[in-house]
Amino acid sequence: MSAVPSTGNAPALAPAGAGHHIAGEWADGHDDRTLAVEDPSTGSTVAHVARGDATDVGRAVAAATVAARRLRSTAPADRGRALRALAAEVDGAREELALLETRDTGKPLSLSRSEIAGCVAYLDYYAGAADKVQGETIPLGPGSLAYTVREPVGVTGHIVPWNAPLSMLCRSVAPALATGNAAVVKPAEQTPLTALRFAELVTAAGYPPGTVNVVTGLGAEAGHALAAHPGIGSLTFTGSVATGRAVLRAAAEHITPVVTELGGKSPQIVFADADLDDVAAQVVTGFTANTGQYCDAGSRLLVARPVQAELVERIVARAAALSIGPGIDDPDLGPLVSAAHRGRVQDYVDTGVAEGAVVVGTPGPLPPDGYFCAPTTFTDVTPDMRIAREEIFGPVLAVLPFDDEDGAVALADATDYGLGTGIHTRDVDRALRIAHRVDAGYVMINEYFGGGTAVPFGGTGLSGTGRERGLVALDSYLTLKTVVARIAPTS
Ligand code: NAD
Repeated sequence: MSAVPSTGNAPALAPAGAGHHIAGEWADGHDDRTLAVEDPSTGSTVAHVARGDATDVGRAVAAATVAARRLRSTAPADRGRALRALAAEVDGAREELALLETRDTGKPLSLSRSEIAGCVAYLDYYAGAADKVQGETIPLGPGSLAYTVREPVGVTGHIVPWNAPLSMLCRSVAPALATGNAAVVKPAEQTPLTALRFAELVTAAGYPPGTVNVVTGLGAEAGHALAAHPGIGSLTFTGSVATGRAVLRAAAEHITPVVTELGGKSPQIVFADADLDDVAAQVVTGFTANTGQYCDAGSRLLVARPVQAELVERIVARAAALSIGPGIDDPDLGPLVSAAHRGRVQDYVDTGVAEGAVVVGTPGPLPPDGYFCAPTTFTDVTPDMRIAREEIFGPVLAVLPFDDEDGAVALADATDYGLGTGIHTRDVDRALRIAHRVDAGYVMINEYFGGGTAVPFGGTGLSGTGRERGLVALDSYLTLKTVVARIAPTS
């Protein structure tokens, strides 16, 4: 059995239960193996969770299969009511969840609070969508009737990353529940705590046992077992490209459809006519929010050559003024998620210097403990450099100048990713022209990180094939059945 103790001074650090959460209750792992969960702000262990494997995943899928049979026959309006009740539970626990998320990820408390508010928004939004899922009739002539029915896939799998743990979970679980499915969730091993608490809230909201099951553990063990399980009707994977490939390979065995939401190297394109002060603020938020650990972080600045120097100066000044500290103190920037990840980010910074790029500004001192990393801005970057092409997932900005629109689009498309693209200009014709030209799934004009729950989000290329948020996301959890009938003529 594995324990989830609370330690330290902050309240509500970990759920009170133990083990996985299967069939509506805490469930011991089938063996005693556990994983330590760290607070990245201090490096100290705050909890232990079960290290699940294929046996635990099998139990969770079995429980979800039972629940799915029941859920598929619920009336759409009842699905909406149930999700609204869950939204109310999450809303009622929002401060507890925010503290837990901050302790688990190191995220500034305000950011955790806004992500938990976003979770409530996902649940509310898809509650409203639950009774608006409709099929079509297809005209075949007087002797026939053809129509489509959109049915739940049954058991949905959700493999979740550590960068926005509960937010990513709710982004896919909410539409899965709205469409009458059950779920098995494998949170990231670094950040499993809010998922476990969420499972308790699902039970409290009155859902049947097995509706949402959480199996904690390592990706190569529990995650792989979920991707390879024959009982999964649809799998949503949010994470890195390398893991995405492994998940797709494992899912291929049973032809399980996979929603892939992967990484990015998103550009912010700035023209000379933009309001440079406003843009500087947006660029800094774009590459440092969540310490650069967002898939759509604006990690490349593509700037019109005449304003490059002035904009970089403003960006570096703003970045230097950001406070850095433990998430619980609510600074501008918390730590990176782990020592290993800080090592990866530092390696990229070293690589940038070795490739000939130039770090602008001098980083200030960092807190002594925890996995902190100063914002770093590179100029003299060329498109072939690794820091210009690869996802770093830390607060590192690569600046590249362009001379005209064609040059800006060519630079924007010079990576294998295609997630977000920011465009900053007062010229609306130019903004829309570029929006239509760039290879990206999500374009933001004059507002980086603009959008919200109702707006579809996803990428092209290595950023994945999925579309989440908005009504389009419902399709990932539905299968389309066509019914064709011959109508006998009246005799
Ligand atoms: P990761 O790929 O290391 O892990 C993601 C999840 O996959 C974790 O739960 C992990 O345990 C699991 N996993 C690892 N190996 C596995 C395997 N062999 N089989 C099955 N599951 C396995 O990603 P991460 O480091 O947690 O997250 C960061 C990445 O996620 C970044 O690349 C980021 O861009 C991406 N991301 C994308 C989006 C999006 O919407 N496109 C959103 C958030 C994060």
